[in-house]
Amino acid sequence: MELQNIIFTDAHKEVREKARTIAIELLLPHAAKHDKEESYNEAAMAEAAKQGLLGTWIPKEYGGSGVGILGLALVVEELSKCDPAFGVAFAVNALGSIPLIIGGTEDQKNTYLPKVASGEYACAFALSEKFAGSDAGGLSVRAEQEEGGWRIFGEKKWTTNGSRADLITCFAVTDPKSRSRRISAFIVKNTDEGFSIRLDEDKMGIRSVPVSETVFNGVFVPDDRLLGERAGLGFKHSMMTLDWARPGVAAQAVGTAAGALDLAVTYATQRKQFSKPIVSFQMVQAMLADMATETEAARWLNYQTAALADAGKSVSKIAAMSKCFATDTAVKVATDAVQIFGGYGFMENYPVAKYYRDAKILQIYEGTNQVQRLIIARNLVKEAGKMEHYTSVIPKETQEAFGGELVGGNC
Ligand SMILES: Cc1cc2nc3c(=O)[nH]c(=O)nc-3n(C[C@H](O)[C@H](O)[C@H](O)COP(=O)(O)OP(=O)(O)OC[C@H]3O[C@@H](n4cnc5c(N)ncnc54)[C@H](O)[C@@H]3O)c2cc1C
Repeated sequence: MELQNIIFTDAHKEVREKARTIAIELLLPHAAKHDKEESYNEAAMAEAAKQGLLGTWIPKEYGGSGVGILGLALVVEELSKCDPAFGVAFAVNALGSIPLIIGGTEDQKNTYLPKVASGEYACAFALSEKFAGSDAGGLSVRAEQEEGGWRIFGEKKWTTNGSRADLITCFAVTDPKSRSRRISAFIVKNTDEGFSIRLDEDKMGIRSVPVSETVFNGVFVPDDRLLGERAGLGFKHSMMTLDWARPGVAAQAVGTAAGALDLAVTYATQRKQFSKPIVSFQMVQAMLADMATETEAARWLNYQTAALADAGKSVSKIAAMSKCFATDTAVKVATDAVQIFGGYGFMENYPVAKYYRDAKILQIYEGTNQVQRLIIARNLVKEAGKMEHYTSVIPKETQEAFGGELVGGNC
């Protein structure tokens, strides 16, 4: 485990404070209404843009505030605390634009990132397809090269922000015969001819952010919108993006857990049974104590992950741990919060039911938690080869050489 200082600068504290103000003033009072109506909180997003928060993860030289993935985690956590659905509506802009930061040419970075930072361009990330979810290498959307550019054919499933995004990072097969260089990423604009939205899904949670089926019906993208200098780097870019973006999902989860916990503590001090506030019952206290401890553990694991990412370290294993632990925690804490509200927790006119519904998707998107566990286990196996001091204390009779390939699909 690599040690990395987690340093909160004044700039980090500033973006966190701005996010907290937006969350309390523009999210919390309206979250239920937007959820019920499946309407987007335009006012809050406009304010986030005005306050410069959409440039949080974008380097200063491209118009951002340069507070990196740690800044992103702090902002998303605050927003998700008051409305988890808005947390993803915000964070998906990072998911859609991080491929540009990781793999874009200098021209692409200069052209698009300042507009993302200012809020002029909303973003989406179109990787998943109807038959390619966890097996992201198995895409069928294809791009064919022609004079001056590429033409994209096919359909993507579950593109968060799809019907709102100006820029869609779309992953498509460009070399079907290659194993390692099969996929490339393209910068698609929502105004490109042939791009359309088939539908916005009807969802169990995060109902105020659209998740769309996006259709690429021979969309022509000029050469300068192939991400990077050459074709074939798309799979690598998508996996690197997910490593960097996972602290954003973990932050949604920490915020969701923290918001549900705050509501549960507040309610437990107000609700009386047997002539006493329910918070005086030790079983309720034990639930609250575990909820708080697990939320705090998830928070600091995520800050460490973000700090490592900002330091340019490889975060594949710890980002998977952080995403997995934080999102499992969010589901558990939101479930226990409903329990503390009793029957009222099951009612939609009380706020905690929405946290419960919003939490579930966190264990599924940006790599299911089963896939995160595969990533963690694979990294452990790789590291095992470097621990000869342990090998020497295990009696030889139980040792057999292990080839290093774990059973299980791609991730
Ligand atoms: C609301 C929502 C928003 C989304 N937003 C986006 C987005 O913006 N962009 C985007 O590209 N995608 C998005 N997705 C897609 C999301 O990332 C996928 O749903 C996810 O990766 C899982 O793929 P799948 O649903 O096809 O499930 P499958 O891959 O079919 O998995 C089904 C089950 O099998 C398990 N499983 C699969 N493979 C293995 C394995 N090798 N070992 C163990 N277990 C395994 C899974 O963990 C899961 O429990 C979104 C999805 C939803 C529902």
